[in-house]
Formats: sequence, structure tokens, C-alpha cells
Amino acid sequence: MTPAHFAAEDSAPQRLAGATRAEIARALVDLGVPERERNMRVSQLWHWIYHRGAREFSAMRNIARPLLDRLAARHTLARPDVVTEQVSADGTRKWLIRMPPAHIGDKGAEIECVYIPESDRGTLCVSSQVGCTLNCSFCHTGTMPLVRNLTAAEIVAQVLVARDRLGDFPGGVAPSDGLVPSGEGVRAVSNIVFMGMGEPLYNLAAVRDAIAVLTDGDGLSLSRRRITVSTSGVVPEMQRLGAECGTMLAVSLHATNNSLRDRLVPLNRKYPIEPLLQACRYYPGASNARRITFEYVMLKGINDTPAEARALVRLLKGIPAKINLIPFNPWPGSPYQCSDWETIERFSEIVFNAGYASPVRTPRGRDILAACGQLKSESEKLRARARMMLEESLVVGQD
Ligand code: SAH
Ligand code: SF4
Repeated sequence: MTPAHFAAEDSAPQRLAGATRAEIARALVDLGVPERERNMRVSQLWHWIYHRGAREFSAMRNIARPLLDRLAARHTLARPDVVTEQVSADGTRKWLIRMPPAHIGDKGAEIECVYIPESDRGTLCVSSQVGCTLNCSFCHTGTMPLVRNLTAAEIVAQVLVARDRLGDFPGGVAPSDGLVPSGEGVRAVSNIVFMGMGEPLYNLAAVRDAIAVLTDGDGLSLSRRRITVSTSGVVPEMQRLGAECGTMLAVSLHATNNSLRDRLVPLNRKYPIEPLLQACRYYPGASNARRITFEYVMLKGINDTPAEARALVRLLKGIPAKINLIPFNPWPGSPYQCSDWETIERFSEIVFNAGYASPVRTPRGRDILAACGQLKSESEKLRARARMMLEESLVVGQD
């Protein structure tokens, strides 16, 4: 096994921050740790890396010095580099993270990860791929060519970076801007949504391994019910997601008929609305207490009439559902506009009167292009332009 997140060159230290238990065990085998003590050592390392957030082997006080020295000689607990950190006026934080090369010939990759604080929770929006192959016509990420899948370790590393930055490990110090939920027993990162770059169900093996690390009770201990995986509708993988990950499901529906959905979400040509909804009906664990979220982006003059709201309600009949109306977030050159506020309200009222909770997702971090579908890291041009556009509203590292 050559874990993909390990260093691309033999001489470079191998990264253990983000590793699965199996990968840590393999590292110990390679160091010659005898089998009889291996499980214990894995547990110790696991605790330090994921419960305590250790960034140096030397911090691991219950592990003997010679083993720590051997670990430090070949391995590192370094996180991927944070290239930029932007803090929106509303507390939303966006990190541009540079992943080191995952294998020989790989140039490394930049991805974005967004943190959204609310009074009672902190949600981290993670990426599963660099770019996306699916080209939804309203999504910025879809306009960048796929560079590659992220490894499980790279997905987990996004959470480690966020917790480091938010002072969310024991002994950590929260940022002084006060824009992070805090208090007795409150975790800065309490929820994870796979709604950043990429289609998680096109990278399900890595997403599943990452979720196993995130939910492990001896480490990061996140609840599966507080992890939501959003898909544009990769029907054949949905059953596996539910069975193997046990997380909450969100489905990007966005249209109530196939001809419009074909245009908005081209994957619909392969997996149209009917089989998609059928897969939702059979999603493992879905119930009134664990509803499936249907995301619906509000596009002016495209999918926002009262008739479509009623069609949406009819379509979802019999499925334990929540409907999440997302005001369209424009990006430079985007071909759509966001529906008017009154139109969104009317739409939401119809859905609400039909008995569905229909929170309108408040756009967060718009001033730093951190809102849904605005993520796109590769374009220097965009970054320069966005910076120019946003200079005024951006609050970076404010005390
Ligand atoms: N690929 C997955 C997850 C990432 S996208 C998916 O499509 O579900 C996360 C959510 O943001 C999806 O519901 C997506 O449709 C939505 N989205 C994409 N671009 C958007 C934009 N410009 N404005 C608002 N929502 C957008
Ligand atoms: Fe990919 Fe999701 Fe964007 Fe569609 S909405 S292009 S599936 S990231």
C-alpha cells in the first residue's frame, strides 16, 4: 500500500495528519514496531493526532522517546499550507489550501474550504475534488477542469486546518475577532457539509474513509448526523453512501422537470429525476427524524415560478424531505441572476404551506466569494479580480 497522501518522493517525510488507522498501522510496521504493541501505538498516535491536535511528535508524552525520534525522522504531522485566509464581515472564513503532490508527477492542488459560524453551531464546508467534471451551468466550480480527486487524508486535513485556526483543539486559542461560537461544551466545528468543490459521490471511497476518521469516537468524534453529503444525483452510489457512511444526504434538485434539469445539471441526462427520487426513497436511514435535504437554487426567470413550487411539493410527496432554497450566488461571467426576494418568499411560502420546512439559505461570505458555487481556486485571474472587487468589504485578520 502506498497511501496516496503520503509524500510523492521517498526522501520526503510521510504525512500522518489525516491518515486512517490502517495507514498509521502501516507506518508503524515500516518502522519495525512489533506486532504485539502495534494496536496500542496506533491508539496512542490516534489520540494525539485527532483528539489533541498534536503537530509535533515530541508532544506525545506517553510514547517513549526512541519511537518518537524514529517517527519524526520519517513522518510529519504538518498540515497542508494555508495560502490565504479571508474573513468575511459576517464571520465566514475561507481558506485556500495547497495540497502537496499526492504522487510522483502530481503538481499538487489548491482547494478551498469555508467555515460558517452560527450562534449554536459551526459548519465547515469541505471539498472532495479539485474542480468538478459535472459542469452544472450555474456553478463556478464546474467551469474549472477537474485536476484530481482528493485523498481521504486531504479531506480530513481540511478539518484539522480549520480546527487549528479556530483554536478548536484542547489548549487552542480562538481567534480574537469573536466571530466563532464559543462557550461550555461548544465546538467551533460541529458540523461538516460536503458542499465545497467537487462531486463527493465521484470520489466515494476517499469520502467514506475520511468520514470514518472524522466520526471516530477516540478522535475528532463528529456525529454522523452532523455530516451532510451533497450530491448532484449520482444515483448508483447513493445506496452505498447511506449504507457505508450513515451520513445525512442532500440532493441538488434545482428543477422539477427533466428538460430544465438537463440544462442546469447535465448529469440529469444520465440519471433523470424519477430514478433519482426513487434512490432517495430507498436511502438507508431516511426518516422523518432524518430527512433528506433537497437543494433548490433560485434562478431568476428560470425555475422560480409558483407553479414550479407546487410541482416541487408534488414531486417530493412521500419522501421525508427538507427543502433548502438557495439564493443563486453570482460569479464573474455567470449566465444567471438570483431571483428577486419577493419571488423567493412566494416560492418558500408555497413550500412551507405544504408542510415542508423551507429555510432559505442565507448567503454567507458573499464578499469573499465563499458562498455556494462560488468556489474556484485555480484561476489567478479570478483571484486578482475578486480581491479588487472585495477589497473594501474584506476584513482579514481583524483584531
Ligand atoms: N457537487 C455536489 C456538492 C457541491 S455543490 C452537488 O452539486 O450537490 C453544493 C451546493 O451548491 C449544490 O446544491 C449546488 O447545486 C449549489 N451551488 C452550486 N453553484 C451555486 C451557485 N452559484 N449559487 C448557489 N448555489 C450553488
Ligand atoms: Fe459539480 Fe456540484 Fe458544481 Fe455541479 S454543482 S458542477 S456537481 S460542484
